[in-house]
Amino acid sequence: MPSHTATAPPPTALAPPNVSPATDPRPKFPKDEAGFMTELKRRADAYFVETGQSERDCWRMYLKTAVILAWLGTSYALLVFAAPTVWLAAPLAVSLALAISAVGFSVQHDGGHHAYSRFAWVNRLAALSLDLIGASSYLWKWKHVVLHHTYPNVSGQDADIDVGPLARLAPQQRRRWFHRWQHLYLWPLYALTAAVWHLYGDFRDVITGTIGGHRVPRPRGWDLVTFLGGKVVSVGLLIGVPMLVHSWWVVLLFYLAVTAILGIVMTVVFQLAHCVEEAEFPQPDTDSLRMPDAWAAHQVRTTVDFARDSRVACWLLGGLNFQVVHHLFPRICHIHYPALSRVVADVCREFGVRYAAHRSLLAGVASHFRWLRRLGRSQLAPS
Ligand SMILES: [Zn+2]
Repeated sequence: MPSHTATAPPPTALAPPNVSPATDPRPKFPKDEAGFMTELKRRADAYFVETGQSERDCWRMYLKTAVILAWLGTSYALLVFAAPTVWLAAPLAVSLALAISAVGFSVQHDGGHHAYSRFAWVNRLAALSLDLIGASSYLWKWKHVVLHHTYPNVSGQDADIDVGPLARLAPQQRRRWFHRWQHLYLWPLYALTAAVWHLYGDFRDVITGTIGGHRVPRPRGWDLVTFLGGKVVSVGLLIGVPMLVHSWWVVLLFYLAVTAILGIVMTVVFQLAHCVEEAEFPQPDTDSLRMPDAWAAHQVRTTVDFARDSRVACWLLGGLNFQVVHHLFPRICHIHYPALSRVVADVCREFGVRYAAHRSLLAGVASHFRWLRRLGRSQLAPS
């Protein structure tokens, strides 16, 4: 391996505007000597020139947002004010949960990554939809954009693979005796993720000023107003307003049902991208903190696609079945992911970087199950 110059991650992966970078010592990626990212960028630019399309501000994205918001509003109104029986309320609860996840995957995720529009206020508005559906957009920037996107699958950096002693998701994490059954007991816990995030996790992170052991600035000024306002509005919409027309136990039952579906959908989509047998879990050198691969190769090696042929999955999941493209080009609107995945696959083949994908959602779920079982049962050495 050539001697590399250590570099900071590219701007696409760094802290979002108005947020100063974390102060902990951070691993460094070696310079991209092979020119892998340069070629990826060149080919992606060529795609936009050839097709005459725009990276952001796509009319299809604005139309999709309108459809999703109408779906969300209709599901909510019918469930809360119109469903006469539990048999009609049950499918409406499923519809509401999927509509909420569609807002998160498609509208908020693109906005939070500045991939929605070239106008900052449009991105901000799209990102704020997360506060409307229950989670803090401020904390998400830190957890997802900074900690996860810069260092996917790096134990100790990526908060997404750190769930404490509850589970062992990476080979570097300590194995405990009860992890032997984690491939079984984690699924019902996934169902609690959304409710815990909504009512507890965000508050804990703000009070402690940390996310996954990393110090982050507590929200101040308008960020704090947005945080508290978002919690008031989301608790009001999901619990307060329904209690005006239904008894408390019906509201509690449906709150748990909607958040359970949402939690499972959300967790499975993100686990399938990184916590599967095909993903790698590289670590920085203990002394120099240098990562083994340059930033772009690291993103590809630690990320796995699924169900790339499914248009329905792509639409519902905001292109997050194409996570490899998303990790390489987080500031490009997800509408372009299917086309860009073919460009990325070509470049990966030319540079000998393995691009992994599962044929279907089910194949990805099976791989995640096997990965959990393997890590829970053996002292698998770090890769
Ligand atoms: Zn992302």
